Amino acid sequence: MLDHTKAAMAETRATFTGDHALEMEEPLLFEIGQAEKSGVDIEEPEAFQSCLGGLERSDPIGLPGLSEPETLRHYVRLSRKNYSIDAGLYPLGSCTMKHNPRLNEKMARLPGFADIHPLQPQSTVQGALEVMEQLSHWLLTLTNMEAVALSPKAGAHGEICGLMAIKSAIAARGESATRKIVLVPQSAHGTNPASAALLGFEVRAVSAGVDGIVHAEDVASVLGPDIAAIMLTNPNTAGLFERDIAKIAELVREAGGYFYCDGANFNAIAGVARPGDFGVDAMHINLHKTFSTPHGGGGPGAGPVVLSARLAPFAPAPALVKTADGLRLKEDIEGTTSLGRITAFHGQMGMFVRALAYMLSHGADGLAQASQDAVLAANYVRVKLRDMMTAPYGDRNCMHEVLFDDAWLAGSGVTTLDFAKAMIDEGYHPMTIYFPLVAHGAMLIEPTESESKASLDKFVATLRRLGELALSGDAELFHGAPRYAPRRRLDETLAARKPVLRWSRDVA
Ligand SMILES: *Cc1c(COP(=O)(O)O)cnc(C)c1O
Repeated sequence: MLDHTKAAMAETRATFTGDHALEMEEPLLFEIGQAEKSGVDIEEPEAFQSCLGGLERSDPIGLPGLSEPETLRHYVRLSRKNYSIDAGLYPLGSCTMKHNPRLNEKMARLPGFADIHPLQPQSTVQGALEVMEQLSHWLLTLTNMEAVALSPKAGAHGEICGLMAIKSAIAARGESATRKIVLVPQSAHGTNPASAALLGFEVRAVSAGVDGIVHAEDVASVLGPDIAAIMLTNPNTAGLFERDIAKIAELVREAGGYFYCDGANFNAIAGVARPGDFGVDAMHINLHKTFSTPHGGGGPGAGPVVLSARLAPFAPAPALVKTADGLRLKEDIEGTTSLGRITAFHGQMGMFVRALAYMLSHGADGLAQASQDAVLAANYVRVKLRDMMTAPYGDRNCMHEVLFDDAWLAGSGVTTLDFAKAMIDEGYHPMTIYFPLVAHGAMLIEPTESESKASLDKFVATLRRLGELALSGDAELFHGAPRYAPRRRLDETLAARKPVLRWSRDVA
């Protein structure tokens, strides 16, 4: 395949239309539509009295007018440019881009779930509340925790929610003035320090050992009465299980702090290990990663937070309670220590339905197997590539994702970015690159449990072939990649320095 790639490099891809077979150029709606044209026939409005007190706009709104087929073609052409989990392997580490069973979609589209409104009388949505109740039950069972807040809209929002519970607990102990520091390892996802800082905590880095995990002695050496919490991801962002986690939790608790676990990587351990057993006080679960609900392109996500008995009294509203009249969302926090609402309404209902459908269709054995298969698939990729690529923490078993660095490319003139761009030409979405920051030129591969062996073999073979070309001195092939994508390399520096955030005819 790659020799074809090289031969084709010499050819020009110029066509009259700018289209290449099914891959079509697509201008913006504003460029193809005309403001004077209307796709529908609307009658002139009858004379009416404006209630806007003279604030109504007087100039034309300038929306592009398009016919229905023009509009449809626009969006269909754009949709063909998407790389998606339904198009191919999506090895984006730290993101768990896994197959979303269609059964979940079917359930979420049942009118009884899809057409209800959060302001409907609660007596009319008992089924939806029962889904929330069952989902809560299984999340608590899988994590062995005391309480769960379903409303956070994403992992990062869950971090905020969990840290707010920690902040409330510290305030209730009268220690707000002294407990100000949140410990975060250097390998953490950027949302961890950002969440802590947003809530007014001071972020202090803890470093990991040469084996890539955080050691209990290193945590012990920085603990004191000023520590509010530690945020630790397990498995961590290098794809490694934090072996000292139970000891670290114990030390932090003894020092009067709280243990926040970033549960975004729960896909590696769900059904196998329970965070409550290793001393977690608060943990968000990315339903959109672990329980298969679709994500990417900005949402929607769902980041429920499970809380320990110490933090449960501070859980946000609404609380889901059983009453004689059925299930109720209790909004009133008078006389409680609840931290209050963190968002309008009750969370992402559609994601709750999908996640519960995923759990129930897998069963306990299926959830455990999904985790084990995810770990197996990552280790398969690791073992198949380890003689060519280099790993920052040596030849160790990984969890659901495998981390390589760029030491093996030294002297080849090919960077991690070049390598990723060449993968695009081969029809793959690249792995996560340059994250975590602790590995030089990081390449973080998460194949997930739903890829077949044949699919993993083809992926490995592609990476090996690209690797051979890189090491054989064919740097040019890489510097020019991608050649077959709708756009080649973008000037990211220019885009960052001079962002054009609003379209206007002059820019076009
Ligand atoms: C994805 C992720 C997050 C953030 O979750 P969002 O749902 O994207 O807000 C936090 N931590 C880790 C380790 C993650 O992988």
